[in-house]
Amino acid sequence: MVRTRLAPSPTGEDLHIGNLHAALLNWAFAKKHGGTFVVRIEDTDIKRVIQKAEERILVTLKAYGLPYDEGPDIGGLSGPYRQKERLETYRSYAHELVEKQAAYYCFCSKERLEVLRKKQQKEKKIPKYDKHCLSLKDPKERIEKGEEYVIRLNVPPKKEIVFEDIIRGEIKFLGENVDDQVLLKADGYPTYHLAVVVDDHFMKISHVIRGEEWISSTPKHILLYEAFGWDKPQFEFGHHGISSTDIYRRRY
Ligand code: GLU
Ligand code: ZN
Repeated sequence: MVRTRLAPSPTGEDLHIGNLHAALLNWAFAKKHGGTFVVRIEDTDIKRVIQKAEERILVTLKAYGLPYDEGPDIGGLSGPYRQKERLETYRSYAHELVEKQAAYYCFCSKERLEVLRKKQQKEKKIPKYDKHCLSLKDPKERIEKGEEYVIRLNVPPKKEIVFEDIIRGEIKFLGENVDDQVLLKADGYPTYHLAVVVDDHFMKISHVIRGEEWISSTPKHILLYEAFGWDKPQFEFGHHGISSTDIYRRRY
């Protein structure tokens, strides 16, 4: 069963052209195969969410003749379709990853991370977390005492992370070039990387079709699928186009 999705963040005045392009591809692919096109609103970046943006996204999709079969306003079997309504799920899976040693608690202060970043910049290295908190002995005690923490992905530096792109073929990353991404923030909200994998899995998405600007995020997602023991969707980063990264200069 083909299930595709559009996962816009309601952070712009309207649905931007890159997402409209992705919507067209996902809609057309689902319809061609008699499948289902899902819309999921990725609204966990609370500082950037704009009121009314969700409504405008949905209106725009319908106006362009790209109606969806499941979505926040019409529901469906794998809802809710707003990430803010799924926070408990992300939290419990983040902690499950820690149990599995695929992730770890990090207590680093903003100041420490800033010093680290500056040092790496000076040495002309790609900014990356240094696994400082991976070997802490008493993280649970610190959390019980009320210390703030985030949960980070534990990327094995020597691991070759491989996935298939329907169009480009095999894509490979070496773990040492992938950052120990924050998965759960100090405020208990997930980052995009955790939420997207949990949701694509539970919404039974078969094909993830999105812009090429998401290629470098995908090794992080692959590690999550593997840690959870979940089947991966098929990936397609086919549309070279207007990347939301360029437009909004977002940083994940
Ligand atoms: N929320 C992301 C966006 O706004 C979704 C990216 C994806 O399709 O995985 O583009
Ligand atoms: Zn840390």
